[in-house]
Amino acid sequence: MSTVSDYFGSLVFDDRVMRANLSADVYASLRKTIDEGTELDISVANAVAQAMKDWAVANGATHFTHWFQPLTGITAEKHDSFISPSPDGSVIMEFSGKELIKGEPDASSFPSGGLRATFEARGYTAWDPTSYAFIKGRTLCIPTAFCSYGGHALDKKTPLLRSMEVLSKQALRILRLFGNDTAKRVVSSVGPEQEYFLITKEMYDKRPDLRFTGRTLFGAKPPKGQELDDHYFGAIKPTVAAYMEELNDELWKLGILAKTEHNEVAPAQHELAPIYTTTNIATDHNQLTMEIMQKVAAKHGLVCLLHEKPFAGVNGSGKHNNWSIATDSGQNLLSPGETPYENAQFLLFLCAVIKAVDDYQDLLRLAVATAGNDHRLGANEAPPAVVSMFLGDELNAVLTAIENDTPYLGTEKTQMKLGVDVLPKFNRDNTDRNRTSPFAFTGNKFEFRMLGSSNSIACTNIMLNSAVAESLRIYADRLEGAEDFETALHEMIRKTIKDHRRIIFNGNGYDESWIREATEKRGLLNYRTTADCMPHLLDKKNVDMLTALGVFTEDELRSRRDIMLENYCKSVVIEANTMVEMARTMIAPAIDSYAADVARAASAKRLVSPKLACSYETDLIGKLSGLVDEITAKTDELENVILKVHEAEDIVEESAMIRDLMLPVMCELRVPCDQAELITAKSYWPFPSYGDILFSVK
Ligand code: ADP
Ligand code: MG
Repeated sequence: MSTVSDYFGSLVFDDRVMRANLSADVYASLRKTIDEGTELDISVANAVAQAMKDWAVANGATHFTHWFQPLTGITAEKHDSFISPSPDGSVIMEFSGKELIKGEPDASSFPSGGLRATFEARGYTAWDPTSYAFIKGRTLCIPTAFCSYGGHALDKKTPLLRSMEVLSKQALRILRLFGNDTAKRVVSSVGPEQEYFLITKEMYDKRPDLRFTGRTLFGAKPPKGQELDDHYFGAIKPTVAAYMEELNDELWKLGILAKTEHNEVAPAQHELAPIYTTTNIATDHNQLTMEIMQKVAAKHGLVCLLHEKPFAGVNGSGKHNNWSIATDSGQNLLSPGETPYENAQFLLFLCAVIKAVDDYQDLLRLAVATAGNDHRLGANEAPPAVVSMFLGDELNAVLTAIENDTPYLGTEKTQMKLGVDVLPKFNRDNTDRNRTSPFAFTGNKFEFRMLGSSNSIACTNIMLNSAVAESLRIYADRLEGAEDFETALHEMIRKTIKDHRRIIFNGNGYDESWIREATEKRGLLNYRTTADCMPHLLDKKNVDMLTALGVFTEDELRSRRDIMLENYCKSVVIEANTMVEMARTMIAPAIDSYAADVARAASAKRLVSPKLACSYETDLIGKLSGLVDEITAKTDELENVILKVHEAEDIVEESAMIRDLMLPVMCELRVPCDQAELITAKSYWPFPSYGDILFSVK
């Protein structure tokens, strides 16, 4: 049997393959493009294309595609075959540098938020050489950015690459001030931990709500849920183990560093975490991981649910974005150093993140906002919708000492004074792991925990990279002009701590009292829903920062706000329509036919003994018919709301109507349906219960 190291990355046109299949010159210029972002010569592109095609064909590929990430949040591809006719009637396999570098998908049906008029509906895709090409099925996939002919970004990769670029530029300015003349680039890296549910295909097929919306819209709480915490890190069931094994193999072949896997809190819930890598590659890999999770599930008779809240009352699924920044030589800039001088640099980068998170809480919040994730944030399982940061006791004590000019009573008992060379040496904090904080420092990286399981991690990292780049830009501007670097540095660190103290919270983020303190005393933002936060993408401070850095144009921001709100509205309207259909054509008829049979049972009893009260049957029929009346009334009401939201003047108003009118009625309709489920004989209920679904996998 072959070992993992034999087939790891076997479907990737990675550095090993490039080195083996390209001439030394071509390899060197491609490497320079990858590492330093220099432009690629067309003759080099032709040579790369040729080698890529030969390698792909040798590995069974017949087609190629420019693989991109439109604003739908999933990936898109349009396949072209390599074949080209020969005069003798045969075909040869061809692929040119031009085809590698640029593609023109007919992309008129991807959302553009008004950036692309229909008469110039085509967009173009451009090769991202920093993310390796790979083979999926029989297709060579080339990771690309997707833009309009006017040059506007229509995807998630373009702004992500721009944000990485500005972060690198500003971070290098800081490093130069600390005497680092060798670093060429600063790169942000991410390790996204991915949660998901696995259920059987058999159960899934019986639930229109799961099929149409990815989550259950009805369902009474099962007698056994996650109360016992017996699933978390529990033994993995054989079907799940077989699934995970194949999933790992498929991911490894694609060079994805799938590392850990375990059961999660809820029954049927699991997690997969990769080893971290460069942000844009981590983003591509996470998109691929989500796709392959679903494909492999289908082969095992399973369905992988990536929705944030597939089951009400059961823990939802998130994605933890572990993020850090490092130099091209591998120095982690968020790792406390060995010497006080290194620690001063570390503290400055740390402060840049603190300032970024406080100044742009709203951007971080809206980067994770979707209709699905709204069900999670603020429930007792995921961080609240309020953004705050956890630093741990030791770092907190250091910052407090700096802020107040008091002695630092940490492990080293150092006096904190002005000037770089007396900053203390401190250890990584790995004792206190606060799991309730949305944004936690975990020793040498930050873990942002508000992402939903189905979110692309691109949006979060665009905002994070940009906001931190902005802090660093402000710092560099000030420090480059300072007369005394050390004094200016110390003052700036101190000022950041003073100004942004409010964002640091080390207590229990799930506590109701924290939300009150955060909003009433500290003035932190609490945007509870997508409709609340998304309009703030266009707040002046956000537009100013993102456009000044060159991450987005104002038009791009406007289009993104519209597209995200449209996604929100469409998702909820589909759910509402599904509820109406299920209530009318499945639930109400099921209750009625059960009530009718109960009535028949009562009549039969009375036939035997006419004086029998049949109070059980009479009561039950009364309850059932009361519930059906309520269900019908609420279904009518929901239908009216669906019609009414069409009258909204614009997308912002529509999203507010959905939040205020539609979602509440959906909750109200669910209540009598779930009550009826609990008193209707199981054989009459038209779809599997929560218990059936959650414990379906053996
Ligand atoms: P947890 O206790 O949250 O599971 P782990 O130490 O297992 O934490 O790491 C979780 C994730 O963080 C992994 O994907 C890991 O690769 C990633 N990670 C570790 N170091 C870094 C780093 N410097 N930058 C980005 N991600 C990192
Ligand atoms: Mg984690």
